[in-house]
Amino acid sequence: SNALVWFRRDLRLADNPALQAALDAGHVPVPVYIHAPEEEAPWAPGAASRAWLHRSLQALDADLQARGSRLVIRQGDSLSELEKLISETQAAALHWNRLYEPASIARDTRIKQGLKSRGIPVESHNAALLVEPWTVQTGQGGPYRVFTPFWKNARQRLEGLRAGSAPKRLPEPPVTLAGLDVGDLGLRPPAHEPDWDAGFWEHWAPGEAGALEMLEVFLDGALRGYKAERDKPGRVGTSRLSPHLHFGEISPRTIVKALQDGDWPAAIEADLTHYLSELGWREFSHHLLYHFPQTAQDNLNPKFEDFPWVDPDEALLSAWKRGRTGVPLVDAGMRELWTTGWMHNRVRMVAASFLTKNLRLHWRHGADWFWDTLVDADLANNTQGWQWTAGTGADAAPYFRIFSPVAQAGRFDPAGDYIRRWVPELAQLPDKALAAPWEHADLLREKAPEYPDQPLVDLRESREAALAAYETVKADG
Ligand code: FAD
Repeated sequence: SNALVWFRRDLRLADNPALQAALDAGHVPVPVYIHAPEEEAPWAPGAASRAWLHRSLQALDADLQARGSRLVIRQGDSLSELEKLISETQAAALHWNRLYEPASIARDTRIKQGLKSRGIPVESHNAALLVEPWTVQTGQGGPYRVFTPFWKNARQRLEGLRAGSAPKRLPEPPVTLAGLDVGDLGLRPPAHEPDWDAGFWEHWAPGEAGALEMLEVFLDGALRGYKAERDKPGRVGTSRLSPHLHFGEISPRTIVKALQDGDWPAAIEADLTHYLSELGWREFSHHLLYHFPQTAQDNLNPKFEDFPWVDPDEALLSAWKRGRTGVPLVDAGMRELWTTGWMHNRVRMVAASFLTKNLRLHWRHGADWFWDTLVDADLANNTQGWQWTAGTGADAAPYFRIFSPVAQAGRFDPAGDYIRRWVPELAQLPDKALAAPWEHADLLREKAPEYPDQPLVDLRESREAALAAYETVKADG
């Protein structure tokens, strides 16, 4: 008999518990994808995510076909599509892997209840996390708000961890079953400029094979020295697995297993531990979003509800979005994002700090832009990253610790490789003028006349204003 395997953000065959469960039960898995972005509202995938999804679904279908199966694509209300598919295939069961965003949880709960009341066995599984949010709690029995104790507890559960492999062959789903083509889903609407995403694909190969390749490259290369090099945006010092992890093209268990089983020299112990703890931040973000679902829009720290944010000025916001702030490290980051769909973590913090502290705009404006333009846009990680940088979140950087984009450039991009690459009009400036070119007016006029001669706001004054604004909420506790 048949069993539906409903693919969502688990677009892989290896270590896919929903697929494996159908196989283990002796069923013919019928792989299904249902396009229903409005069910994730207000966090339906943004433009960069849709562009990625388009390719990832094509890759999944090709991988399934290479094993004798195929992806059946439908679109519409998920519950009614699943009901139709169940009756068309006479499916004996439905399997899926769990999601943790509030809208998805509500939808999945409704579907589970709807189908169960009709006698259809529905089973959900964990494909995306090392530790699901409800499986770790503080000594008092509540959720964690601080990373270090969370991770201390959670990482103990990684011993003896297992990760499944991909089935070599799959039985064929019923031939009569009709489906759409990926191209019919309109995932690549011309929302931005024509071919805005064209530059992405020099950097990325969506799909499971691309994810595994990225992991190999990392393990053979940047893992050595990760702890020190991960902060330097001018080099490939990190794994770049974030979009693959977001779409479930690779399982975090597969990554951890590779780290645990590798025959590593003792010298890289600190790199391994640090990399694992970054995966831990991903777990922590999901823990927070699950237990505090309102934080996708509200400040986790409620005293910031009264914070005097500045009303957004479209000109300021659009200068930030398109990398025309006159602050080179911020502009480099925003242009890297626009061109590749990704931004280095260090620069994400600097660009986010500039928006929320120097421009003093609510972090939601920045989070929305990232949501639309990041290929790894992820509600849990994006929310946590923005609230952390804005100082409004759990275990956040204290509000008064404001990043200086000039000092950060000097420290993490001292030779200016990153700035020169993404802000090429500054390429001819000497190193000493790259981080704060407005302090070298003559050089700037001569060598980079098209770059803004002043930053959008004075860095020192805006920093003082942010600290003064903070004084107004600080007293409330
Ligand atoms: P690596 O350094 O190789 O880390 C490995 C993996 O660990 C990453 O792929 C990611 O899954 C996880 N990870 C690493 N750092 C973090 C972190 N700080 N928080 C949570 N998980 C982390 N990450 C996203 O995946 N999606 C987002 O939408 C997102 N938005 C962010 C917004 C802001 C303002 C900030 C400051 C950070 C954001 N991050 C987000 C976290 C981080 O910047 C990216 O995960 C990281 O840059 C991805 O690159 P990598 O895969 O090479 O990371």
